[in-house]
Amino acid sequence: MAPVYTNSNGCPIPGDPFATQRIGKHGPLLLQDFNLIDSLAHFDRERIPERVVHAKGSGAYGVFEVTDDISDICGSAFLDTVGKKTKIFTRFSTVGGESGSADSARDPRGFATKFYTEEGNLDLVYNNTPVFFIRDPSKFPHFIHTQKRNPETHLKDADMFWDYLTTNQESIHQVMILFSDRGTPASYREMNGYSGHTYKWSNKKGEWHYVQVHMISDQGVKTLNNEEAGQLAGSNPDFAQEDLFKNIAAGNNPSWTLYVQTMTQEQAKNAPFSVFDLTKVWPHADYPLRRFGKMTLNENPKNYFAEVEQAAFSPAHTVPFMEPSADPVLQSRLFSYSDTHRHRLGTNYTQIPVNCPVTGAVFNPHMRDGAMNVNGNLGAHPNYMASDKPIEFKQFSLQEEQEVWEGAACPFHWKYTDDDFKQPAALWNVLKRYPNQQEHLAHNVAVHACNARPEIQDRVVEYFSKVSTDLGDRIKKELLELSPRK
Ligand code: NDP
Repeated sequence: MAPVYTNSNGCPIPGDPFATQRIGKHGPLLLQDFNLIDSLAHFDRERIPERVVHAKGSGAYGVFEVTDDISDICGSAFLDTVGKKTKIFTRFSTVGGESGSADSARDPRGFATKFYTEEGNLDLVYNNTPVFFIRDPSKFPHFIHTQKRNPETHLKDADMFWDYLTTNQESIHQVMILFSDRGTPASYREMNGYSGHTYKWSNKKGEWHYVQVHMISDQGVKTLNNEEAGQLAGSNPDFAQEDLFKNIAAGNNPSWTLYVQTMTQEQAKNAPFSVFDLTKVWPHADYPLRRFGKMTLNENPKNYFAEVEQAAFSPAHTVPFMEPSADPVLQSRLFSYSDTHRHRLGTNYTQIPVNCPVTGAVFNPHMRDGAMNVNGNLGAHPNYMASDKPIEFKQFSLQEEQEVWEGAACPFHWKYTDDDFKQPAALWNVLKRYPNQQEHLAHNVAVHACNARPEIQDRVVEYFSKVSTDLGDRIKKELLELSPRK
């Protein structure tokens, strides 16, 4: 049976829904015409604030399956049995563009997954690159502004872009990856996800490790070159959304194999880099990848706005036996992600179905009321810890021998040093293994930086020359061809 057309109060609209109430045939309209007023008023309020970063995205549901026992590393219930399955929802995104921007933009890709576990929702809010541009969280808004639009011209601005990066040179590792062809993935299915940050996982004995997680695409990593990406931005700006949706609809379900790298506290003390430094990777040879699971995306959302636009991920959404490390950027993301959802979706954003834990076990007597409270608000239960209404507290042994932090409150700015160029130099050598990849990196930088002022172009050449003089020379040569000096 066809649904009955109604007003927002559920009252059927008789006859012609496009008829307006007016005086006579052609006279003015009546304010009492709720059908018209209500539909216009709702239309005026259709948009919610788009995400300030990661605005353009695509999402799908799927399943995570434990493939290998890692109970010596992590005691979380969803990992406790090989073969155990957990429902997931993943959202991929670009970072800097608006919600209508092209999927092929040179940009890191967000790769965020919500695991609906029996112990609550776990969000792994990752990227497709293992490092990031900053390690001082206070730089984040400053940095993002330089990658977005110029406040005067409202244009993307190569001066701002390279001025920031070349004066904050801890960015170099991420910039090398961004300007390699991995900065323009061929699809969301054909890219990896990385935790980037170090986290802390513990087993049921209370022993803990620092960990990094890698989600390696079973489709392989495929990329576009700069010109293919530019062409797609015009011919099919939504190609990544289309690719994901159509593949899942056709049953060609993409999957990723999940691995964990681990480090003891002792190993971390002896590592040649800080585990809290988001600009560094853990070399594979020293910290081998250990497989533990597979995730497969197998179901498209039925409604983009309800399920993808309203999906709210936060690294603060974690489950027992998984904790954040002291990585300062991660620490500030724990605040900022949940905070942006409170602003964008409202304080009760976790009541939106895509964000609801499947346990049905949200029971916090303090968290009451607020806009759009739709789940019954814990009914008559007291809004404090009432002595005659006991609440159970679960016990689990967590990371007993924690790090001990000491010291006075002090300002700390993690300035760059020559050491920050060592891993980028290793990457420059890795690129030699793949056909044309060194050449593409130099070309991709030059065609972007040629739009910057000459003195900033010189700084770009200097910045990449600190990775490799060969790379600097290649960029300089192409820059001079693209934007000859007078
Ligand atoms: P390895 O030789 O063991 O690994 C090199 C890795 O580089 C590959 O496994 C691949 O990672 C990744 N890679 C290949 N092409 C690109 C590209 N265009 N952009 C970014 N990454 C690429 O060396 P190490 O572990 O010692 O790392 C050397 C360098 O490789 C690092 O400095 C870092 O820049 C990069 N890298 C390292 C990762 C790590 O976790 N160790 C992860 C990703 C990059 P994958 O298999 O994940 O696709």
